[in-house]
Amino acid sequence: MKVLVIGGAGYIGSHVVKALLEANASVTVYDDLSTGHKINLFAKAAFVEGSILDYGRLEQTMRQGFDAVVHLAAKKAVGESMENPELYAENNLIGMVNILNAMSKSGCKVLVFSSSAAVYGMPEYLPVDENHPLNPINFYGFTKLESERLMAWYDRLKGIKYTALRYFNAAGYDPDGAVKGRDSKPQNLLPIVKEVVDGQRECLLIFGNDYDTRDGTCVRDYVHVSDLAAAHVLAIRRLLEGRPSAVYNLGTSNGVTVKEVVAAAEKVTGKPLPVRYVDRRPGDPAVLVASSKKAETELGWKPRYMRIEDIVKTEL
Ligand code: UDP
Repeated sequence: MKVLVIGGAGYIGSHVVKALLEANASVTVYDDLSTGHKINLFAKAAFVEGSILDYGRLEQTMRQGFDAVVHLAAKKAVGESMENPELYAENNLIGMVNILNAMSKSGCKVLVFSSSAAVYGMPEYLPVDENHPLNPINFYGFTKLESERLMAWYDRLKGIKYTALRYFNAAGYDPDGAVKGRDSKPQNLLPIVKEVVDGQRECLLIFGNDYDTRDGTCVRDYVHVSDLAAAHVLAIRRLLEGRPSAVYNLGTSNGVTVKEVVAAAEKVTGKPLPVRYVDRRPGDPAVLVASSKKAETELGWKPRYMRIEDIVKTEL
């Protein structure tokens, strides 16, 4: 199969490219390298440098003919989306419209999209399944939800079949060390822990220790990026078999606290990790854990990394 991976030089994208190459797919990466890295490109994959805002280049690339497109080229920083919604509207919404229009014009009928647990907003029950109400509480989550809705219309009107993969907390790196580029100015817990371990940051600021959880810190569902990548391969295959469009949560269903992440990092490095407790971060739910039963049943997806220590080991 011939797959176009848009955003294939980024964190999750490069892991998806690796998984596709291992599944013997022919892969082309389309990336503007705004946050992705050249060193994340695989020699076996073709590369087109381009932005999803450059409609002409996108359509021209798609005219090469692909069995499937994977779109992981959206902006992903929650805080930034609230401060600079224009940037997120342009990249995430106009970018999605461009991708769908280019697919429509070039006749490509299968799209796998990296969505997010942010489409749910504050959890009303746990674990969160795909039937949970959709009430994003930040602009980033709104752009993911609107992208899903756009795909649903292009399915109805243009026959483009899609799968939206709603990631919970993506974490870890390729265990073979094939992905080397790290996000600059990371905002997520694990990459920040890595910077503290490497001495690039003095300490980890823990956002709140007065939550109603087992140790007072927030509980999240960390899922290994290689497991996420595997789900994309399964989702493409399923759509190519002619199955209908679908939406899946991807998480391990294991809730892990921030303190437990810190303890795992300390165990892996054998050194104490300096931390400081600060105020809660606005918009953080106390607990966010996925039910991924639907992905297990329909995609045959099963995460291999179930212990936080094993995930943290690949990050550090
Ligand atoms: N967190 C923290 N300090 C940081 C970054 C994150 O205490 O510097 C906490 C955050 O409050 C949340 C968890 O770590 O409970 C995961 O946060 P992250 O931003 O990685 O992902 P989110 O759950 O917001 O998608």
